Amino acid sequence: MKYSDLCEIYEQLETHSSRLEKTEILAEFLKKLKSEKSKEIIYLLQGRIFPDYDNREIGISTQLVMKALSRSTGMSAGEIEKHWKKLGDLGLVAELITAKKRQSTLSSSQLTTEKVLINLQKLPALEGKGTVDKKMALISELLTSASPKEAKYIIRTLLSDLRIGTGAGTLRDAIVWACFDKEDKAAYEAVQEAYDTSTDWKLVFEKAHKGVEELQKTGLTPGQAVKVMLYPKVANVEEAFKRAGKPAAFEFKYDGFRVMLNKEENGKIKLFTRRLDNVSRQFPDVIKYVKENIKGKSFIIDGEAVGYDPVTKKYRPFQEISQRIKRKYDIEKLEKELPVEVILFDVIYYEGKSYIKAPFKERRKILEKIVKQQKHKVILAEQIITENEKEAQKFFEKAMEEGQEGLMVKNLEAPYKPGSRIGYGYKWKPEDRDFDLVITEAEYGTGKRAGWLTSYTVACGHEGKLLEVGKVSTGLKEKEEEGLSFKEMTKILKPLIEKEEGRTIKVKPKIVVAVTYQNIQKSPTYSSGFALRFPRITRIRPDRNTEDIATLNEIKKDYKEG
Ligand code: ATP
Repeated sequence: MKYSDLCEIYEQLETHSSRLEKTEILAEFLKKLKSEKSKEIIYLLQGRIFPDYDNREIGISTQLVMKALSRSTGMSAGEIEKHWKKLGDLGLVAELITAKKRQSTLSSSQLTTEKVLINLQKLPALEGKGTVDKKMALISELLTSASPKEAKYIIRTLLSDLRIGTGAGTLRDAIVWACFDKEDKAAYEAVQEAYDTSTDWKLVFEKAHKGVEELQKTGLTPGQAVKVMLYPKVANVEEAFKRAGKPAAFEFKYDGFRVMLNKEENGKIKLFTRRLDNVSRQFPDVIKYVKENIKGKSFIIDGEAVGYDPVTKKYRPFQEISQRIKRKYDIEKLEKELPVEVILFDVIYYEGKSYIKAPFKERRKILEKIVKQQKHKVILAEQIITENEKEAQKFFEKAMEEGQEGLMVKNLEAPYKPGSRIGYGYKWKPEDRDFDLVITEAEYGTGKRAGWLTSYTVACGHEGKLLEVGKVSTGLKEKEEEGLSFKEMTKILKPLIEKEEGRTIKVKPKIVVAVTYQNIQKSPTYSSGFALRFPRITRIRPDRNTEDIATLNEIKKDYKEG
């Protein structure tokens, strides 16, 4: 397919804001895609080059993009940077300067989506000597053949920032519209489920042509990340039993990060976070525990990794362990300073067989059989099964006394549903009002806080868009040793700056924070129409992205409940 045809679609998606229109545009495009040999174009539609489970990253910095633009257009890097500061989007800069250049040169071959994919897919593997030059050559080759519009989208794809506002939900609907009847409820569910188990839109699209039954056959593959099941909230023990049934399983809710342990038939072990990031390299200790303490040739096991103090053996707050998720060097040093215990609570695949349809009580039994528990290495979630409110309440208090976040309550008969926040299990935490929100803007402080970004605009999600719900400037510390500091946050936000206006900066929406608040009020100041009162940042959520943040509907619900 001509790359310009795809750019046409990007442009339509960018200019149409309603989800319905976007779905219509995508569905029409997908109908055409049915006859294309390579369906990998669907990755490009999402601004990606590989399936979602594959987290090889393009890994291109804005600096390198500017260099490549400079090479392909002849404009100096300084000049390009000036345009960037003004427009706040290197894609638009690329469009502008390519148009200028085009007036003088006419030679260009026509780009195809295949060529764009081939070149971009080569980028992540480049390592070692001469890497920068090789990357530059691959990018420049595309840019010299690109029209202004094509250059815009190539650059945005390179920077993983397509800005066409189409989320996974829109793509799912469009696949249904392209392959089934719009009213076919079962089709929506089958497409979604097939995606949650395979995390590969290309595979889902290919299967969708063959019908619902084919989609339902989508299996789990150890080594290929799946979306984890999530849990709605309950407020107290009565609600816990009402929702999860009687008897129910109660488990400690440990405060670490979600980890899916995968063992492939060939013995290879991989660890994925809930964002499907492969963190195997960062946790050689966990790999060892999996090898030594879990029986079986192949499996997918769900759990939580919690950091603990090597001396006192006490669990540490999530904030600290999150360093290990991001760390690419000094891994062994950090392994000693911040050891983790892996706490297992579910198994969805074992020895060639999927257990997602099996009842939870059976899955737990399997876990008990195959895991050799060893304190400070790998254990099973502490669990009781009861129908007695008093007993459950006592267990909740025990969890709180031991410093856990609360309890999980699980329906014993329920299956596992990857990717959904469905009522097969619930979290029961002490009264809390907090939302995960993403930072979209920040402001520099004054006086002794000058030089730091000290006030942050936070946003929730709504149909692929971000809507602001207020500004937060409390929760962070002035001294680094006291916890998450303004200095640290400033360091994190600076590379994400897109635009500066006086003391205010606009940032790429990448940093998700947990914000507690007292209540919610209506507000014309923010684009959501609501504002959080007395908001306070309690922590950064490095394992979350904009798909995980609170939605406008959740904000509205909380507003109504007062
Ligand atoms: P929270 O912010 O409350 O941790 P979340 O958005 O991470 O929630 P939820 O599914 O809403 O995810 O809440 C459950 C989370 O608690 C799981 O994602 C998992 O990381 C963690 N967890 C800790 N202990 C358990 C357990 N025994 N069973 C299931 N999940 C557990």
